[in-house]
Amino acid sequence: MKPHTPAATPVLGDDAPAGPDPVWLRARSLLDGLPGGRGLNIAHEAVDRHVAAGRGERTALRCVAADRTVTPVTYAELARRANRFANGLRALGVGKGDRVASLLGRCPELYASVLGTLKNTSVFCPLFPAFGPAPVEERLRLGEVRVLVTTAELYRRKAAERRERLPGLEHVLIVGPGSERLPGTASFDALTAEASEEFTIPDTDPGDMALLHFTSGTTGTPKGAVHVHEAVVAHHATAALALDLRPDDVFWCTADPGWVTGTSYGIIAPLTHGATLVVDAGEYEARRWYGILADERVNVWYTAPTAIRMLMRVSPRGSPPELPRSFDLSALRFIASVGEPLNPEAVRWGQEILGLPIHDNWWQTETGCIMIANTAGAEIRPGSMGRPLPGVSAGVLARGPEGRAAVTDGRVRVLEEPGAEGELALRPGWPAMFRGYLGEEQRYRACFADGWYLTGDVARRDADGYYWFVGRADDVIKSAGHLIGPFEVESTLMEHPAVAEAGVIGRPDPVAGEIVKAFVSLKPGFEADDALARDLTAFARRRLGPAIAPREIAFDQHLPKTRSGKVMRRLLRARELGLPEGDLSTLEETA
Ligand code: ATP
Ligand code: MG
Repeated sequence: MKPHTPAATPVLGDDAPAGPDPVWLRARSLLDGLPGGRGLNIAHEAVDRHVAAGRGERTALRCVAADRTVTPVTYAELARRANRFANGLRALGVGKGDRVASLLGRCPELYASVLGTLKNTSVFCPLFPAFGPAPVEERLRLGEVRVLVTTAELYRRKAAERRERLPGLEHVLIVGPGSERLPGTASFDALTAEASEEFTIPDTDPGDMALLHFTSGTTGTPKGAVHVHEAVVAHHATAALALDLRPDDVFWCTADPGWVTGTSYGIIAPLTHGATLVVDAGEYEARRWYGILADERVNVWYTAPTAIRMLMRVSPRGSPPELPRSFDLSALRFIASVGEPLNPEAVRWGQEILGLPIHDNWWQTETGCIMIANTAGAEIRPGSMGRPLPGVSAGVLARGPEGRAAVTDGRVRVLEEPGAEGELALRPGWPAMFRGYLGEEQRYRACFADGWYLTGDVARRDADGYYWFVGRADDVIKSAGHLIGPFEVESTLMEHPAVAEAGVIGRPDPVAGEIVKAFVSLKPGFEADDALARDLTAFARRRLGPAIAPREIAFDQHLPKTRSGKVMRRLLRARELGLPEGDLSTLEETA
């Protein structure tokens, strides 16, 4: 089956600048390109060029097993493993543009699969191993996946039963033992053991499709965002600009490789810098995480607000931080967070408890790389996502009654005045931007107007150019003539000592249009009762004023979240209103 390849030409509006921004040209010059001017391939920049430059013996991965034993993998070894996989794919007749998906925990084979697939100019599509069978099937079908790399257990639990509904899935490669007992599968280990460890990357056009990432499904059905090899220019540059990553660093990205962060910054960007990556096979546990930060001497740590808030629950501000203080975190230089709004309290917690502030940054699956960030050395404004990185041109667009940017006769209106709220938009043309939603041309085209890419998020920019997240365009609440961003209300509630997390929605109301309703989860030791609800309401009213403070408060220790840790406000709203719950494929299972 020949995969459908969407147009690799970005949609540029009439007003878009001609040619790439000089920042990206400079960033490109920091990479090598394939020898002999044969193009640009992500895997070459991530591993081969270090080996060619005599840096092959540096440690690329420090694989931390569940029992905390550590296995290092050098750049040279990683390159050999990737070559073996690339040759294995070739032996199977899998070539350029063919999709290879992974359903794996964090193990060295995952890294070999990503890099080997890219070397072979096939397209890599990471899937989250905690997905159930239905979302796995849906993504394998949508992605027109020919090869799946997984383990016997994951295959048995998530894919075997649905295999016959996926005629396009020709090869299932099982990492570790068990393939001999699973019909229709082959051994990854045998395939790669037989293959040569030499591989020459074929010519690769920077516009060749490289990665297929499904979005988180926070606002609706997940979309398959198509990315190209040229994205590596932006991965490399933004890791230095936004994460302060340097070649000798030990870097830990806690995002699962099944999401775009876990691939772009968990694999590609740090390898292009020659850094050492911590690869933790275990699950979140506060003591384990502090132990890894300390023992692996992590310098740069990229994580998510939900993880920070879990650590905050364990060691709240104002109490003696016994747990973090019992670890030597002196190697840690820079902490960054992405994926959801980072409430100001979390930034202050980092400063007080870890001795370092947390740098929030903003981007999307579609943008492919960090766009707006609190960078090293710049003043952090707690609660702000920071400022656009060099080479990124952002704007705030006036919105229409539907909440999205208003497009009149093909034109949008840019809001110049500081503090004005509108849809966050970006000028297309950066190297990592997506080149399509797989099989959904219309949905892709609808993201662009008047030379802008429309993000679907609402933000405001202050007089100094800092961007403040207001909410998803779909989540913004309209109450008694006010437009209320759920994030502001959630952040305020999270400043109350009892509140661990909050999700805020608008509930239809005959008088006000919508009223603000908050769902909150509590920190240990607090009782969910009427007195606390009254106290929270009063607390929010004092800080936000009666027009914005929640009118109703409900306690919910299991706020619905995506598996990547984002509060699913659409689900809170659907449940509140008794509406259909929609796509639940990325909903996290609660204990
Ligand atoms: P879907 O598009 O399927 O609804 P999703 O938008 O959550 O899911 P992602 O691409 O993983 O999928 O997430 C990008 C979104 O996450 C952004 O559009 C924004 O709403 C939110 N986000 C990311 N970083 C931040 C941040 N620093 N502050 C606030 N929101 C953020
Ligand atoms: Mg989105």
